[in-house]
Amino acid sequence: MSEKTALAVACEQLRIAAEKLNLQTELHEMLRHPKRSLVVSIMVRMDDGRIDVFRGCRVQHWDARGPFKGGIRYHPNVTLDEVTALAMWMTWKCAVVDIPYGGAKGGVCCNPKEMSRGELERLTRRYTSLLLDFIGPYRDVPAPDVYTDAQTMAWIMDTYSQFKGYSVPECVTGKPLSIGGSEGREEATSHGVVICAREAAKLLGLKLKNATVAVQGYGNVGWNAAKIAHDIGCKIVAVSDSVGGIHCPKGLNPYKIYEHKSKTGSVINYKGCINITNEELLKTRCDILIPAALENQITGTNAGEIKAKIVAEGANGPTTPEADKALQEKKIMLIPGILANSGGVTASYFEWVQNLTREHWTLEKVNNKLETKMVKAFNDVYKTAKQEESDMRTAALMLGVGRVAEAMKTLGLWP
Ligand code: GLU
Repeated sequence: MSEKTALAVACEQLRIAAEKLNLQTELHEMLRHPKRSLVVSIMVRMDDGRIDVFRGCRVQHWDARGPFKGGIRYHPNVTLDEVTALAMWMTWKCAVVDIPYGGAKGGVCCNPKEMSRGELERLTRRYTSLLLDFIGPYRDVPAPDVYTDAQTMAWIMDTYSQFKGYSVPECVTGKPLSIGGSEGREEATSHGVVICAREAAKLLGLKLKNATVAVQGYGNVGWNAAKIAHDIGCKIVAVSDSVGGIHCPKGLNPYKIYEHKSKTGSVINYKGCINITNEELLKTRCDILIPAALENQITGTNAGEIKAKIVAEGANGPTTPEADKALQEKKIMLIPGILANSGGVTASYFEWVQNLTREHWTLEKVNNKLETKMVKAFNDVYKTAKQEESDMRTAALMLGVGRVAEAMKTLGLWP
């Protein structure tokens, strides 16, 4: 399956950018390591009365440009190495889209699909209590990621606030609207993905009307990406989730698939579609491929069989460096996750600003600001790619790593 760990991939990408940027060896060395990694054991009273111990962590990569920022993921395969890679990608992502944050990520090794709501709440609150001294509105601001959602963020906010003795909505983003969440945050990652795909399509002279789209993953990012792409006239020809996928060349209705998944637990077995594997989904004939699941999906082994014209990474790290090369040779335009999926953290930033200023913006205002930020970031990366005669991944990394390195140089090293 995997050719390399996510951390090996992230370090390889950093090496490529560092070389292109002629980065000082010392700065490169500093950026290769996270500033702080916290590992915790989370004791949870399960519904049957037993106490289970879960392993969790929070990795804070670098904060030269502002407080740490990044999601928390609940997944059975979470490892410290993986979370470290994800934290590093957050640092570059915030710099690429130019918001004043550093990068972090948290993870708990657990299987949320097999846990009750009560167990998840106790896990979240206990985990938050273990992170208390390390997170906060000016320190490190968590958000949702794989298998965590607005409700998880509500529990984090409540636990944090109970300890402080007053309400601190700005300690976390991706919250429900009723407690200070932002309009548009839930769809923001997917919105950004579709904006990037649209800008790429413009460059390639590809019309979005009836452009065919395949989406891997039907969680928050995948489902909303399918929905938004469908709403602007694209034809969704294949989708998948962790169980498997479905293919329908005539085009499918993402809203109906969402309903079907809510009822049956998966997108598979939908009338009029053929069931396919996740591997087959990636190789589907389509104009735009949106991997929106996990890392390490498009690899040296299958990249040669990708048929899309544009790959827009909704997930973090779905493509390995070997696959990058193969896609480049095939002249497939890849929009890297640190650009393509940066709409999520950008809307998180808008939420944080609203909380700090005690304001609530309209959906229109949030979406307009998101559009401006995403188009600017896309153009910045594209311009760098032209200047450097590089692919979009290398350009985005050069931009992100370059901005972080500049901030670190300016701050100097204490003491
Ligand atoms: N988990 C999301 C990401 O990977 C969002 C992070 C955030 O909003 O802080 O970008």
